[in-house]
Amino acid sequence: MRILAINNKDEAVRKNSSSGGVFYLIAESVINDSGVVFGAKFDSSFDVVHGYAEDMEGIRAFMGSKYVQSSVGGAYRDAKDFLEAGRKVLFSGTPCQIAALKKYLGKEYENLITVDFICHGVPNRRICREYLDEISKGREIAKVNFRDKTEGWRAFSLKVDFADGSTYRKNLEEDPFVCGFLKNLYLRPSCYQCAYRGFERPADVTLADFWGVQNIMPEIYDDKGTSIIIVRKESIEKLIEYKKDSLVIRELDEQTVQKTNVAVEKSCAMHPKRAEFFESEYKSVSKAIYRIVKEPLKIRVKKKLYKLYKGVKK
Ligand SMILES: Cc1cc2nc3c(=O)[nH]c(=O)nc-3n(C[C@H](O)[C@H](O)[C@H](O)COP(=O)(O)OP(=O)(O)OC[C@H]3O[C@@H](n4cnc5c(N)ncnc54)[C@H](O)[C@@H]3O)c2cc1C
Ligand code: SF4
Repeated sequence: MRILAINNKDEAVRKNSSSGGVFYLIAESVINDSGVVFGAKFDSSFDVVHGYAEDMEGIRAFMGSKYVQSSVGGAYRDAKDFLEAGRKVLFSGTPCQIAALKKYLGKEYENLITVDFICHGVPNRRICREYLDEISKGREIAKVNFRDKTEGWRAFSLKVDFADGSTYRKNLEEDPFVCGFLKNLYLRPSCYQCAYRGFERPADVTLADFWGVQNIMPEIYDDKGTSIIIVRKESIEKLIEYKKDSLVIRELDEQTVQKTNVAVEKSCAMHPKRAEFFESEYKSVSKAIYRIVKEPLKIRVKKKLYKLYKGVKK
């Protein structure tokens, strides 16, 4: 096992990726090898589903984290068909989806590469749907980006572009859906006791955000996104070596990952008001989320003052 910090030097790739753009790199190598890539994308109704792509145009739809449970549909069966036909297959998904794929396949395939990520958990599909419908206010959605980087990678902004040219964009402190996600209000029940934590997993590669890179390796930090990659397959190590001129690479160890990304080993605690939230009747999902997760005024004032103080000190 090898652990690395990586920035893809291709600025456009990194802009459209949630962290450092490593998924794109691996997907591209599989497509160049006449392979097939499976991943999570938005369908025409902006629900998240698993699908496959055989060219780079299709790969773009998989880029970026979608903070909702993806519907797998027939993806495991399709992957098996391609594997049996001898095609190279890259399957990307949550750690539990990779475990389910392996169980479904029932045997190892030389031509299969699996990619998962350190997983906070997936929000409930209904809540996400209600939220997108609510902020749309009747407008037709053209694009959703759960990790827009306009304000920087660490701002964790949700951006929705509408067909009429208007845009919604709010960062992690302002957007109710992102706040409720990060405060564990509506994750899928199994996410609170996730069986797929730790460094040993079924996937060949685990991706993650390198939170804290600005303090640990300031020389590679630019707030455009840095990935952690945990590699368990020799062919991926070779790919990274082959591509080294187009990447910024640093060696990492388990301790650094444990320190900066607690989700690698620990499931997040269920929000104490999760049941209350799901049982409540509401007209506005944003207000219902905010009522529960919004910080008390005293704390918000303190944070604002701290930000102002830091601004004055610069
Ligand atoms: C629900 C969720 C929770 C996450 N939690 C954490 C966390 O706690 N800590 C952390 O460090 N990183 C977490 N990540 C991963 C991280 O944000 C980046 O996606 C990852 O580091 C890969 O980034 P990238 O820049 O290489 O490529 P990207 O282009 O950002 O990677 C996209 C990849 O993610 C897959 N994907 C996107 N959405 C979903 C979905 N809903 N279900 C299944 N697969 C999906 C795509 O198929 C594709 O393979 C999470 C991602 C998701 C989707
Ligand atoms: S937290 Fe665990 S159970 Fe939940 S989606 Fe991620 S891997 Fe699956």
